[in-house]
Amino acid sequence: MFKFLKDKLKEAISGITKKVESDAETEAEPEVKTKVEEPEEITKIVPEKEEIKKSFFKKLHEKVILTKITKEKFEELFSDIELALLENNVANEIVERIRSELEKDLVDIPIKRNEVSSIIKSSFKKVLEDIISIEKIDIYKRIKESGKKPFVILFLGYNGVGKSLTVAKLAKFLKDKNLKVMLAAGDTFRAAGASQLAQYAEKVNVPVIKGKYGSDSCSIIFDTISSARARNYDVVIADTAGRIHNNQNLLNELKKINKVNNPDFNILVIDAMTGSDVVNQAEEFGKSVKIDALIITKSDTYEKGGALLSAVYILKKPILFLGTGQGFDDLNEYNKEEMIKNLGF
Ligand code: GDP
Repeated sequence: MFKFLKDKLKEAISGITKKVESDAETEAEPEVKTKVEEPEEITKIVPEKEEIKKSFFKKLHEKVILTKITKEKFEELFSDIELALLENNVANEIVERIRSELEKDLVDIPIKRNEVSSIIKSSFKKVLEDIISIEKIDIYKRIKESGKKPFVILFLGYNGVGKSLTVAKLAKFLKDKNLKVMLAAGDTFRAAGASQLAQYAEKVNVPVIKGKYGSDSCSIIFDTISSARARNYDVVIADTAGRIHNNQNLLNELKKINKVNNPDFNILVIDAMTGSDVVNQAEEFGKSVKIDALIITKSDTYEKGGALLSAVYILKKPILFLGTGQGFDDLNEYNKEEMIKNLGF
């Protein structure tokens, strides 16, 4: 899902490396070069071995040319990276963080000509690892260890991000692990909300409790929990509305649902295609209700991927899964190492 970002960064880093290398070439101080002394065994080399001798000195020469990047030069060079990041929906806060890490590693420090690229890459890798190294959560283990029955999971997120489908995907994931799962069709604001969830529930073969269009979402979730408890179900997954007149109403409704039903685990669903608005979404939900983890949907259709980095950075919450398609099995567990590799580091 990071193809664009990966390609752009690769391009930017290689551009910077070339610029710094060529500057180093022209700025190289003569005394640095003259410091290179011919080792005795080379001087003894017979004339026909001249080529080997030349190549030995070429390599040595590349290694010893040192350069220093000034603060001004750095700002100029960083603008390419900044553009690549912003174009790919990476939040400003992350761009600034990367800027200051790279600055620490590159500005006014003597760097060997052939090490520019590896220094930039390792500096980048360090920041990225830091950004996405939030502890992983194993939801199955969390449910089992909680001792709660039913364990209540609440889904949050704006309309269209893929909440209902992901509720069904998670239901199937847990059902495949032999847990008994019941769904609560808590999106009562949208006429089609509950019926769509009911269709998905039928397909993954789990029961769903729904009310009438416009009925109280909070009480539907409450009824589902009671029913699940009476029927000895392990898990309740509750869908919620993604839009109610305005954001404040929506957030108040979610606060009420949380107060009344006291869920064990809240998941914020974010669409990978969300642009810079991801920061607002994460902040709005984060301020109103507790968020335990994220699921990023549609990672199969979008190659920019910055939304994911931004959401994790803002909320400091782990990613539980990535939605990777429209099928009920298209849910991948999040893997930090793979993510860094996908970014080309
Ligand atoms: P909700 O309004 O948040 O409940 O969103 P829905 O569950 O109705 O999903 C909105 C659209 O996104 C539907 O067409 C889904 O099939 C699609 N969708 C959800 N998750 C994914 C995903 O991971 N990949 C793809 N390609 N489509 C998805």
